[in-house]
Amino acid sequence: MKEDISLEQAQQILLERVRHRRETYVSLWEAAGRILSQDIIAGNNQPAFPSSRVDGYALRAEDIRDASHSNPVGLRVLEATRAGYAARHTVSRGTAIKVMTGAPVPQGADAIMKYEDLQQGTDVIEVYHPLRPGKNILLAGRDIRINETIARRGQKITPSVLGLIVGTGLSEVPVFEGLTAALISTGDELVNPSANLDPGKIYPSNLYTLHARCQELGVTSLPMGIIKDDKEVIAEYLLEGLRKADIVITTGGVSAGDYDLLKDAMKSIGTEVLFDRIAIRPGSAMVAGRVMDQFVIGLSGNPAAAFIVFDLLTVPLLRKMMGQDQPLPTMIQGRLSHDFAKQGSQRRLVRGILYNHNGVNYIRINDDKTRGVLVSMAECNVLVDLPADIQKVQAGEKVTACKI
Ligand code: AMP
Ligand code: MG
Repeated sequence: MKEDISLEQAQQILLERVRHRRETYVSLWEAAGRILSQDIIAGNNQPAFPSSRVDGYALRAEDIRDASHSNPVGLRVLEATRAGYAARHTVSRGTAIKVMTGAPVPQGADAIMKYEDLQQGTDVIEVYHPLRPGKNILLAGRDIRINETIARRGQKITPSVLGLIVGTGLSEVPVFEGLTAALISTGDELVNPSANLDPGKIYPSNLYTLHARCQELGVTSLPMGIIKDDKEVIAEYLLEGLRKADIVITTGGVSAGDYDLLKDAMKSIGTEVLFDRIAIRPGSAMVAGRVMDQFVIGLSGNPAAAFIVFDLLTVPLLRKMMGQDQPLPTMIQGRLSHDFAKQGSQRRLVRGILYNHNGVNYIRINDDKTRGVLVSMAECNVLVDLPADIQKVQAGEKVTACKI
C-alpha cells in the first residue's frame, strides 16, 4: 500500500487496474451518453444522394452559358419534384425540372437556379445569367463518405455523434455495459434532509452532489444513504454496495481522527488498500482499494475535498470503467486575473472561473476563505493546479487548470 503519492500516480494505479467491460446493444433512443464499444463505419454516403439546396429549377449549366438580359434563354419545364421524390424525367438540352429544397437532383441536371433569379411562365422559364456547374447542389457524401469511420470505440455518444449513427441506418448501437456506483455518506453528524437539524447535525450535501455528478457522467448512481461512524455498519454497507454496484464511493471517515473508521472497515471485508492519502490540498485524506474487480473509493467528508478528489481521481476511474478512451480531465492554460498567494507548501488545487477576454483565456481564482465551499464552487468551471514549490502567482502569469 502506498502513502502520500502524487495525484498522477494515484490516477495511474487506478486506471491500470480497470478490467475490460462487456459489450451490449442498445436502441437509438437509449444510446445518447453511452460509450461506443466498436468503431462505427459508414455503410453509405451521407447524404446518400445529391440534393437541391434551394427552391428553384434544375438545369444544365451549359444551356445557359450565354444567358443575359439582352439574350434571355428559355427552358421547357418537364415536371416538378420535391423532397422525398425522384424526378421521372431526365433534364436534356433546353429543358429544366422544378425542384424544392431537399429534392434529389434530377438526372442530366448539374445546377439549380433559384426562383428569384429567373422568370417563371406556364411550362417555361426564362433565364438571364449563367450558373457554374454544381451551383446550389448539396453533393452526396458531403458529411460522410462510404467506409469512413464516423465514430470510434471508446467515444462518448454525443447528440451529433448519435445523428451520424442514425444516418448510417443502424438501429442497434454497440456500447459498453452501463456502470453503477453505490454512494454512501458516513458520519454521526449527518441527518436526512427531511429531518430537523438538531444541534451539531448537518445535511449530507456530498451524497447529493456526487449523485448529480454521476448522473452527468452517465453513471447510474445507487445512493445507499447516510450511516453512523461504526466499523461494523460501514463494513455491512460496503458489502451491500459491492453486491449491487461496480464501485462504491463513500464520503467521511478517512482522516486520522478517533472516528475515522473507513479504512478499517474496508480491510475487514478483505479490501486490498491500493493507496492511502494523496499529495494534494484539499483532498489529501482519502483512501482507494480494490476487492476482486471492484473498487472502493473513500473520499473526505469535507465538501471541497470530496468534490476535487471526485473530479480528479474518481471521474477518470469511472470513465475508464465505462470504456471511455480519454478518461483523464481536460487541462487548459490561462492567465491569472489577480495576484494570488498560495497557502502552505503543498500542491493545491484551487477553485477558479475561466473566462475569455479579447481572445485570451483568463482565470479568476474564487477560493475565498470567507465564503462557503459550495457557494464558491457553484460559480467555478476550473480547478487551478498550483505546484508545491510555488508560493505566489502574479496577475497575468500563466497557470494550468483542469476543467470541471
Ligand atoms: P470527515 O471526512 O468525516 O472528517 O468529515 C469532514 C467534514 O465534512 C466534517 O466537518 C463533516 O461534518 C463534513 N461532512 C461529512 N460528511 C458530509 C456530507 N455527506 N456532506 C457534507 N459535509 C459532510
Ligand atoms: Mg466524520
